[in-house]
Amino acid sequence: MELDSMAREPEDVLRDEVADSTPLIDPFGRQVTYMRVSVTDRCDFRCVYCMSEHMTFLPKKEVLSLEELETVCTTFVRRGVKRLRLTGGEPLVRRGLMGLIEKLARHLETGALEELTLTTNGSQLPHMAGDLYAAGIRRVNVSLDTLDPEKFAAITRWGKLDKVLEGLDAADRAGLKIKINAVALQNFNETEIEPMIRWAHGRGYDLTLIETMPLGEIDGDRSQQYLPLSKVRAELEQSLTLTDNPFKTGGPARYTDVKETGGRLGFITPLTHNFCEGCNRVRLTSTGKLYMCLGQDDDADLKRALREGGVQALDEAIAEAISRKPKGHDFEIARAAPNVSVARHMSTTGG
Ligand code: SAM
Ligand code: SF4
Repeated sequence: MELDSMAREPEDVLRDEVADSTPLIDPFGRQVTYMRVSVTDRCDFRCVYCMSEHMTFLPKKEVLSLEELETVCTTFVRRGVKRLRLTGGEPLVRRGLMGLIEKLARHLETGALEELTLTTNGSQLPHMAGDLYAAGIRRVNVSLDTLDPEKFAAITRWGKLDKVLEGLDAADRAGLKIKINAVALQNFNETEIEPMIRWAHGRGYDLTLIETMPLGEIDGDRSQQYLPLSKVRAELEQSLTLTDNPFKTGGPARYTDVKETGGRLGFITPLTHNFCEGCNRVRLTSTGKLYMCLGQDDDADLKRALREGGVQALDEAIAEAISRKPKGHDFEIARAAPNVSVARHMSTTGG
């Protein structure tokens, strides 16, 4: 597959080489070393907590071309970002994504980038896992909230569990390390969480539980879905021995070791536990908006800077944006009016 045809101007490449490489440090002394990049807002699923069934997707011209995505990511790598995670929407449905991954992988070879990963719903892994490994991807996060085919079809609306399981097999064969992400949902998967932990650890996968976050309008009522992980953990501890583990992946998860399975269990708890103090991350949307905080609406328009002013303007816009990175977020389901506290969907910012 090929990258978008728009070639980078030679002057831009030159500017790339002479451009600023000072690290990005926010007003609270936190260095930005991790970026999540949403490469598309589109998806082949319609998970009920993430999207409404009839989503209107962005016109193509508003979305960064693959070439632009590469320029923005490379600029961040030059300024000290060590880990890039591609996400979406569903990243693997973006046409030409393999070409982008191959280009970004050159930063792995030089050592500028420590890790290039992706978060996926797994539906495309059956045919893409081998190519992803060959391109330099070593770890993928696969989102999976249930192992029951009917419940899976209900929660994803359009997804098929057997495809995802086939994708996991393909990823195993390819040598990709897998982490399962499961959103904890009230009246949906609370009784399945322990069996899923045993299943995932039995296959050698880490598993991370995520609390629902109030992002974007959906069709249902979020307060009905919200299941605090403090409650899940207390229930798990009736039958499992969980010991806190200082392991960090650069993400917001806190980890525990599960004695009975020998595996690792992560908790991402934006609502019950504020994880902002060590935040080293920013998020780029597929339209080139940089969010300095998942839970706040302030953004910087990097697409405009790049399209109007080239790489130098992009660099300036990034530095200016980081100087506005807030101390923390303020999600609160109870205050969400009526159903949402941050207007954009997770599929826009990429989770
Ligand atoms: N499509 C890919 C996937 O599902 O893994 C990548 C994008 S998805 C937006 C990234 C992660 O966000 C998934 O693990 C998904 O379960 C989670 N997610 C989506 N909406 C959420 C919400 N409102 N609250 C918490 N997690 C959410
Ligand atoms: Fe698609 Fe991922 Fe959102 Fe599900 S969670 S609708 S798979 S973007």
